Amino acid sequence: MSATTQAMRVRFAPSPTGYLHIGGARTVLFNWLVARQANGQFILRIEDTDRSRHVEDSVQKIFDDLRWLGLDWDEGPEIGGDFGPYYQSQRLDIYHEHIDRLIQGGCAYYALETPEQLQAMREAAEKSKGGFRYPRPDPIPTIEQGEAARSAGQPVVVRFKMPDEAITVVDDILGEVTLASDQFEDFVIQKSDMFPTYHLACVVDDALMGITHVFRGQEHLMNTPKHIALQKALGFSTPRYGHLSVIFNPDGSKMSKRDKEKAIKQGVAPPEIDVHDFRSAGYLPEAVLNFISLLGWSPGNDIERFALDEMVALFRVDRIGKTNARFDRDKLLAFNTDWSTRVSPTRLLVAFKDFLNIHEDTPAMMREADDAILARMLSLCEGFRTFADVIKKTGFLFVADESIEFMPKAVKKVLQKKEGAGLAMLMQLLPKIESLSDWSGEKIEQLLSDICEESGEKLGNVAQPIRVAITGSTVSPSIHETLAFLGRDRTLTRIRRCLAMHS
Ligand code: GLU
Repeated sequence: MSATTQAMRVRFAPSPTGYLHIGGARTVLFNWLVARQANGQFILRIEDTDRSRHVEDSVQKIFDDLRWLGLDWDEGPEIGGDFGPYYQSQRLDIYHEHIDRLIQGGCAYYALETPEQLQAMREAAEKSKGGFRYPRPDPIPTIEQGEAARSAGQPVVVRFKMPDEAITVVDDILGEVTLASDQFEDFVIQKSDMFPTYHLACVVDDALMGITHVFRGQEHLMNTPKHIALQKALGFSTPRYGHLSVIFNPDGSKMSKRDKEKAIKQGVAPPEIDVHDFRSAGYLPEAVLNFISLLGWSPGNDIERFALDEMVALFRVDRIGKTNARFDRDKLLAFNTDWSTRVSPTRLLVAFKDFLNIHEDTPAMMREADDAILARMLSLCEGFRTFADVIKKTGFLFVADESIEFMPKAVKKVLQKKEGAGLAMLMQLLPKIESLSDWSGEKIEQLLSDICEESGEKLGNVAQPIRVAITGSTVSPSIHETLAFLGRDRTLTRIRRCLAMHS
């Protein structure tokens, strides 16, 4: 490995505005992969200088999401490192020093317009010719004027003098992207509350933390020329950039947090958008990681299934695509089903327990069940889509026998139709079940098949009445495994109760 790849330092720099968005997770993953592949360092930096957007607890939530995904960081919060602190809110002095350097060097200036004046300028520009671009004042306020205005309590900001020249972003994914100078204005680097803006803090930190490569979403592409100009003015070198494609819903709309609000307004179940949504919906992190790795990247040769360590070996930046990625939920579900049989039973159990832990609304009996029972639930539902499905499919096993509610449709169709053939079948089954000496899946299966043979009935006509009696509905996992799980006594109790209620 060459010296340059060994020194590779990448970062993920989330703003703590809520749970980690699935697009953000892809950004972390790609950065993490290139770092691991090059034996480099992966740094986590919290960009928390925008107090107005700060969401309580979200830093902790981001850590939780990253840990759930299994993406660890080499430097950052809770770990430390030689380039800390890793919270921008703890680096304000560093930013002030750099802002000051830019002001003193004539690369930045105090701007004195009030928000109302700016609004009026914006409106006037829109009325005349459209798009507003902040016009550099002529003359620009002097340092003394700026400081005096600030001392007098006026809302003073600091703006960076954007050079009047086209800037080319050399992008490892998109190639060279040149943006004309008229696309940019003198942008704010320090707000009136004295906090730095994202641009300034990001550029200073990338430089001081020795970041060599920046992979981030394409929504930042228009920021990069600003960052390059700032780097030049501060005498910093420019890291390599790569902007990741946008993630779209299958209907062509951009996948965003707002999709959830939209769905709630329409009265439909909100789609999973944040990493936590997928965890809470019962996906395995292995499946989520595998799936998001393919949003804009593929190793080629039709290879589609890989675990994180295999991804490290396969990942190539030059195979990251430019075109937008499509978030196909059916494909993700299929990945999850597949991963539920790929991971070891022990791993599956750990993941299932995590799911139960974060869902306090699951039946207490289920949450308190021992490992053997949980493992049986999983094997009972083999081929399941998500853990939520496992709960749905096995929930009836964990409620009191007296609380089974019978669906009228199921009762009518399975028990009462054909002059109560289903109820008659249950009556016939009772003594046989009572006298079955060995209560195992195998023996129950044998019993049911013997009954079919004797009576000339199809298995459905034998199994469905039992299903209704023990679940209240017409769906359950395999009937003999289900009965074995439920136990003889509870099976009998439920059948008797069903007969008493519907005969
Ligand atoms: N805090 C920025 C964000 O969350 C980071 C962007 C970047 O990677 O530079 O979008």
